[in-house]
Amino acid sequence: MAEQIYRVNMTNLTTSTEPVPDKWMGLGGRGLTSTIVADEVVPTCHPLGSKNKLVVAPGLLSGTVAANSGRLSVGAKSPLTGTIKEANAGGTAAQMLAKLGCKALIIEGLPKNDIWYTLQISKDGVTIQEEKELIGKGNFAVVAGIGKRTSAKHGVMTIGPAGEMKMLSANISIKDPDSHLRSSGRGGLGAVMGSKKVKCIIIEPTDAKVEIVDQEKFKEANRTFTKALVDNPISQALGTYGTNVLVNIINESGALPTKNFTGGQFDGHEEISGETMHDIIVEREGKPRHNCHKGCVIQCSQIYNDKDKKYKTSGFEYESIWAMGADCCVDNLDHIAEADHLMDDIGIDSIETSVAMGVAMEGGLLAFGDGEGICRILREDVGKGTPLGRIIGCGAGSVGRAFGVTRVPVVKNQAIPAYDPRAIKGMGITYATSTQGADHTMGYTIATNILGVGGSVDPLSQEGQVELSRNLQIATAAIDSTGMCLFIAFAALDDATCLPALVDMINARFGADLTAEDVTNLGISILKTERAFNEAAGFTSKDDRLPEFFYEEPIAPHNVVWDIPDEELDKFWNF
Ligand code: SF4
Repeated sequence: MAEQIYRVNMTNLTTSTEPVPDKWMGLGGRGLTSTIVADEVVPTCHPLGSKNKLVVAPGLLSGTVAANSGRLSVGAKSPLTGTIKEANAGGTAAQMLAKLGCKALIIEGLPKNDIWYTLQISKDGVTIQEEKELIGKGNFAVVAGIGKRTSAKHGVMTIGPAGEMKMLSANISIKDPDSHLRSSGRGGLGAVMGSKKVKCIIIEPTDAKVEIVDQEKFKEANRTFTKALVDNPISQALGTYGTNVLVNIINESGALPTKNFTGGQFDGHEEISGETMHDIIVEREGKPRHNCHKGCVIQCSQIYNDKDKKYKTSGFEYESIWAMGADCCVDNLDHIAEADHLMDDIGIDSIETSVAMGVAMEGGLLAFGDGEGICRILREDVGKGTPLGRIIGCGAGSVGRAFGVTRVPVVKNQAIPAYDPRAIKGMGITYATSTQGADHTMGYTIATNILGVGGSVDPLSQEGQVELSRNLQIATAAIDSTGMCLFIAFAALDDATCLPALVDMINARFGADLTAEDVTNLGISILKTERAFNEAAGFTSKDDRLPEFFYEEPIAPHNVVWDIPDEELDKFWNF
């Protein structure tokens, strides 16, 4: 089936399908969303105004049987950071869109009235329907409601109340194979969808298959690729303990931000660790291994049940557990799981919102450690959109300004996640220079700084950090374009067969003749496209900085400050 661009204009309520322009042909995932945003969005526009566009794109290998290839990219100008933004997630949508031949979905304009809509996507294009029944509903009710209206096999992308209220941390949720949720979490893309009055996007199932030019070569490459993933020891640890395996590791390294970034180790780390979580899940008959999309062989997700052995949350990630746990000093996994469930339902980024809670605790709203208080505020304020809820729902920077707190861990107004940059300098380079605000997934130097994957760079030294972050940011931009989960990077860095097999799969899929160098060049070109958009939006190297307190307040146990000189940071873009 020929791939097409699906376009929806919410001002005129019209839709169209268009041939893919040559310029976009070899792109997918983040490469495509960022290129379309750079080509079609006015960089200085208001992110919630009529000139912004929401772009959805499966990766180059999405819809095939390639292991771990089911990630979906969503892009726009971010209302949280003001920069270009891409957030990707698993779930069933990427594979379904790819099979329908949807290369990208572009949603533009704003409705002229106050009516909400649902978009329905099929092989024939998009239809727009007025939506009443699901407005005001949480994400779990939306997924159940769509299931009743259509079938359990339909794909769903939805926003919760946070997106409807255009909170700047609102996410877009994507139904997974078990009708649970995965989130395109960062940067407030749910608010962009809400500004366009699109409550949800329904995707019709199809028996169609993605075209593969050389089936035999593809199968052979996928066998090699899958073996590299399965044999990798970090993949195996992720499959056993989830990403939360990192709590004890990062605590040991002294880089687990604690009590709103005032310390690097948390006394309650054992209570919230991956090992403890694994035992609770097994005892309550949950699932310690689970995949967020069909074909994942790492299976870092899990199903976490409550004390009555009923579903509470899934995709219970280290960064969310850290943020509600160590950063807010909550050492009770059930309180953290309840908060995670509430944030999934409200449709709000669990990193941004939890870091915002830590800042609010410092501002005196709640005592540190009050997990029940956090859940109450999520339920009664954020979910209902009270003035306090809207301040929290607009992120850590918003809370800092409202409560007069100066220790606000954000870069470009996006919350810094679970790795303190003073004790792991490579992460600080990534937070400062990323085109998307502070985001660990943009250049995950933990691999080399802490886990010894792809070499070793001392996390406390200034040496080699810029180069490390740059190389990983380039590689990540390329991986994010393939539809691959970022966790393939551990095998790609450690196993000489992995990356060539990935390139072989792309070549077999499209009948192309790309080399590893071409893939690197793709990553470089994506970063430069994103950087150019940000510069046109008014960002300069002065925005590539960490907050003041990191330069001034040493963090225990290493008693170190952020000491990478600005001139060193500015060398990042010398490529
Ligand atoms: S490793 Fe985890 S995040 Fe990646 S595809 Fe599998 S379940 Fe999803």
